[in-house]
Amino acid sequence: ARKFFVGGNFKMNGSLAQIKGIVDGLNSADLNQNAEVVISPPALYLAYTKDLLKDGKNKNIEVAAQNVFNKGNGAFTGEISVSQLSDLGINWVILGHSERRQILGESDEFIASKTKAAIDGGLQVIWCCGEPLEIREAGTTTDYVTKQIAALAKVLSPEDWTKVVIAYEPIWAIGTGKVATTQQAQDTHKDLREWLAKNVSEKVANETRILYGGSVTDENSKELATQPDVDGFLVGGASLKPAFIKIVNSA
Ligand code: 13P
Repeated sequence: ARKFFVGGNFKMNGSLAQIKGIVDGLNSADLNQNAEVVISPPALYLAYTKDLLKDGKNKNIEVAAQNVFNKGNGAFTGEISVSQLSDLGINWVILGHSERRQILGESDEFIASKTKAAIDGGLQVIWCCGEPLEIREAGTTTDYVTKQIAALAKVLSPEDWTKVVIAYEPIWAIGTGKVATTQQAQDTHKDLREWLAKNVSEKVANETRILYGGSVTDENSKELATQPDVDGFLVGGASLKPAFIKIVNSA
């Protein structure tokens, strides 16, 4: 069975004080020990977050970066390397988020190349995909997200997939309060899994976690988590709040 996974993507939010408040809350919470939990503060706070977690009672919480570069250390002003994350004991990175695709113009190929570099350097990756509203309305969501994942599959070996968690995040549901219906999430997750079965392997299809992201709250997480192909969540706004604990405990 696939282990339930909840990621908290803080995005460009937080301060020393706010992050301490969030991590203190997690450190003392009664968390579902069968869930894998990964929180992702802005890069500046990665080391601080990791340090704060040391005092907590939940040993199943890890820390993810929100980005990494696809080259080794060198002249790349403003970027962070895979080996620098590893140096700090950061084992996870989020890549392919729609905000970086749309606002920073990251292509499928660039994201795939960063994902490969991260895995080759020993990191695990929360790799995101998802369609804009016009694609959902046109009924071509599956074509859209399978094209995104095809670019990734092109560069990964079967073994690499054990380091990947997929997050399906419909763009129209991110930060809008407009969550996908349980059926919409399940259907797209199933399509992604079937694509993996056909184009990578049955094993990878069966073993890879597929998370849902987009306006997840402690109100809707329980029902979404009942779906056979929903293996957890990537939470934005609610990861900054105590509701995150309930989301972790929703399966
Ligand atoms: P919200 O939960 O704020 O909609 O954000 C989802 C998301 O983009 C997580 O990566």
